[in-house]
Amino acid sequence: MERLLREPIENYLTQKRQAFAGNPLADQLRHEFPEILSRIVSDQTRYKVVGSPGKGNWTDCPWIAILDTLVTDTAQSGYYPVFLFKADMSGVYLSLNQGVTEVKDYYKREARNVLKLRAEDYRAKIDIDTNDLFEISLNSTNSNARLYEAGNIVARYYPADNLPNETELITDILHFLHLYEELNFNDTHIDENEGLTAIEKKQYRLHFRIERNSRISKKVKKYKGYICEACEFDFTIKYGDLGRNFIEAHHLTPISDLGVGQHQINIQTDFAVLCSNCHSMIHRLDDPSNLTHLRHIIKLRE
Ligand SMILES: [Zn+2]
Ligand SMILES: [Zn+2]
Repeated sequence: MERLLREPIENYLTQKRQAFAGNPLADQLRHEFPEILSRIVSDQTRYKVVGSPGKGNWTDCPWIAILDTLVTDTAQSGYYPVFLFKADMSGVYLSLNQGVTEVKDYYKREARNVLKLRAEDYRAKIDIDTNDLFEISLNSTNSNARLYEAGNIVARYYPADNLPNETELITDILHFLHLYEELNFNDTHIDENEGLTAIEKKQYRLHFRIERNSRISKKVKKYKGYICEACEFDFTIKYGDLGRNFIEAHHLTPISDLGVGQHQINIQTDFAVLCSNCHSMIHRLDDPSNLTHLRHIIKLRE
C-alpha cells in the first residue's frame, strides 16, 4: 500500500529520463496504484480511481485521484481528492483539489483566479482541521501544476523522508473521503424550509445530486426522449427551437429508500422525464416516486 507513494518518489525522476512509451512506472501509475487505492474505497461502484504519469509524455507532477462519479467521472472537471507528487519528488500531497482542464479551457488566463475563488468557497463548506494546508507548492513551472496549486482546497503533505505508514495513510484517505462527501453534500442545495429530519435532508440531497448529474441525465433523456411522462408537455411545441431537447430527469427511487453512499442506478427503470411543472409537483407528493398518482391527478382535471 505505501508503495504507491514510495515508488514514484524513489524512481520517477530516473524513469522520466527514459522513453515514456511502455515505461513500467508510467504503467503502474495508470493501473496498479489506482487499483491498490480502490481497495480502500469501500463503495466500488460509486468511486473511480484514476492515475496519470502524463498524456503522451511525462508530466512534472504525476497524480492519482479518487473520483466520486456523482460529482465527476473525469479528473478534468469537478473536485476530488488526489495524490499529487512534487516535481522534484521531495514529497507528495494528498489534496482535495479541482479538475483544472475544464476551467482552463473556459476561463483561459483567469483560470487561476477562478480556481482560487472556488477553493475558498469550497473551504467554507467543510470542517477545516488544524492539520489541513490551504497552500501547496509543486515546484514546477508547468501550467497545469500551477493550476493545481490554485485549485487546492485542503491538503496533507508527506515529505519523501517521512512517508506515512499504511495505517496513517488509510486514516488520511478516509478523512479526505469524508471531506469529499461533506463538500458534495453541502454543495447540493435543497429547500431547507420543509421540516425534514437530518436523514431525510441527506436523502433529498442525494436524490437531487443523482438527477442533476449531467452524465446520468443525458443518458436518461437519450433513452426516454423529451415529452413529459406525466402531462405530455412538449417544450418544442410550446417554445419552438428554444425548447428543443429540453426536459428534466426525475429519479423515481423512493427517497426513503436512498441509502447514503450506496446506489445502483438503472437508467431505464429508475427515472422519468418530466416538464419543469410536473417535476415540481411530483416533489410535492407524499411519495415523489409515484408517477401514477401524479398522472391520475392531472387526468381528473382534464
Ligand atoms: Zn408535465
Ligand atoms: Zn426529482
